[in-house]
Amino acid sequence: MATSKAASAPPVEKHGYEFGGPIGASLISFGLPVACYAATFLCNDVSGCPAPSVLHPSTLTLDALKREVGWKGFSGLLNTKALLAAIGWYVLSLVLYAALPAVEVQGVPLRSGARLTYRFNTFTSSVFIMSLAGLGTLIYGSEFILWTFIWENHIPLLTSSILISWTLATYVYISSFSVKYPNKEHRELAAGGITGNLIYDWYIGRELNPRITIPLIGEVDIKAFMELRPGLLGWVLLDCAFVARQYYLHGTLTMSILIVTFTQALYVFDAFLMEPAILTTIDIIADGFGNMLAFGDLTWVPFIYSLQARYLAVHPVALGFWGCVGVFAVQGTGYYVFRSANNEKNRFRSNPGDPRIAHLKFMETKSGSRLLTSGWWGTARHINYLGDWFMSWAFCLPTGLAGYVIETQPMSAQKIVVPGEAKGWGMLFTYFYLLYFAILLIHRERRDEEKCRRKYGKDWEEYCKKVPYRIVPGIY
Ligand code: NDP
Repeated sequence: MATSKAASAPPVEKHGYEFGGPIGASLISFGLPVACYAATFLCNDVSGCPAPSVLHPSTLTLDALKREVGWKGFSGLLNTKALLAAIGWYVLSLVLYAALPAVEVQGVPLRSGARLTYRFNTFTSSVFIMSLAGLGTLIYGSEFILWTFIWENHIPLLTSSILISWTLATYVYISSFSVKYPNKEHRELAAGGITGNLIYDWYIGRELNPRITIPLIGEVDIKAFMELRPGLLGWVLLDCAFVARQYYLHGTLTMSILIVTFTQALYVFDAFLMEPAILTTIDIIADGFGNMLAFGDLTWVPFIYSLQARYLAVHPVALGFWGCVGVFAVQGTGYYVFRSANNEKNRFRSNPGDPRIAHLKFMETKSGSRLLTSGWWGTARHINYLGDWFMSWAFCLPTGLAGYVIETQPMSAQKIVVPGEAKGWGMLFTYFYLLYFAILLIHRERRDEEKCRRKYGKDWEEYCKKVPYRIVPGIY
């Protein structure tokens, strides 16, 4: 699926370590899975969010903590059913990728000048899957097996996902050593992923666009396939399982969980609808495919981004009319900035004659690419990140002053969920996304800035004079 134009070329740019080099890469690679477990265990449906002992560190014991988090031993971390279900999820995604109609789009030119062809149908595949899930829910309600399975196997599914991410990262790392220049498939190594340090290169990713040919499925671009399809839809399915659980546990559906699920699903389906736009993102054009993207796309996104819905499943929050209006206003503003800025750049890059962007000012550069200097891209160099960050507020705010304790009624032995002394402390989990995302976007902007400085040289300095702010106009 490659356009033959020129022989593939080795990387030429000089590239130092990012993410704190090998030590940072090791900490992230092995620390983030631990963070996923910690978030899942410490904010739970057994004792509270956070588990009560955590609020009393001086008397905290491992035994009490294990009881409070429902620890079933290491054997509880994985089971065969969950592993098979997770593998089945990828098989289903691959089958739909091959079987459903798709659009074929050319990627941006590689270093060699050649362009790879990508097949996109994540939107239709996801609509297909969600329709089946909707049908199942209509028939079986909150006890539809998909939802109960996800809830009951949440931890084993997390472990399965970590194992799949690591296996994939290792596979692409090993297969990247078969890239030889020149080659007719236009395989290239990523400039940032060939330092020679095993753990760092495994994390960052050595090969820019690893592809695999699977019998009956055909050629699959591993990075583009993993970028949106399995992880983002997985996030929506986890959210839906949590909505079903709220109904199952409390016999009600609150606006807070519906808004969280709706706004997150909107974000995800928007990305699916605009799928070809990933071809101009840093992930596709600059980063190799390694553990950073494999773990980030497949595990971190679904399991960490769904924390709010999981929280609300156990502890419903009544938002009230003005609460709902406020959250929608934040989401709407964020979405408007995010989508208009991204559309502006995509149109400018893919169809500069488009009347919607033809009036915008831009500057020519020696690299041949042009940079917008007015419109959204004239307000800040990554105004799209600001819109994206606004939306993260809408994901977290519906959880309110989060935190709960699960108490057992002495007479009836019935369990009740009350804020108790945990009030506010649950925000460590439900607002984590907001903070993490700010750090991600600031760090990502710095990386992109470095990349653009390398690519554009003096022209980038000129551009920065014209557009001095990084993300927040007038402030940062
Ligand atoms: P961008 O879409 O912001 O693209 C950056 C690239 O755009 C630059 O490298 C440069 O590439 C080009 N560019 C920069 N300035 C201009 C300009 N003035 N005119 C034209 N082109 C310009 O990068 P991302 O890939 O980081 O983000 C894509 C979207 O995905 C964002 O909205 C982001 O918020 C979102 N995102 C969401 C994440 C999540 O977890 N929810 C994670 C990461 C991203 P070139 O070399 O071609 O000039």
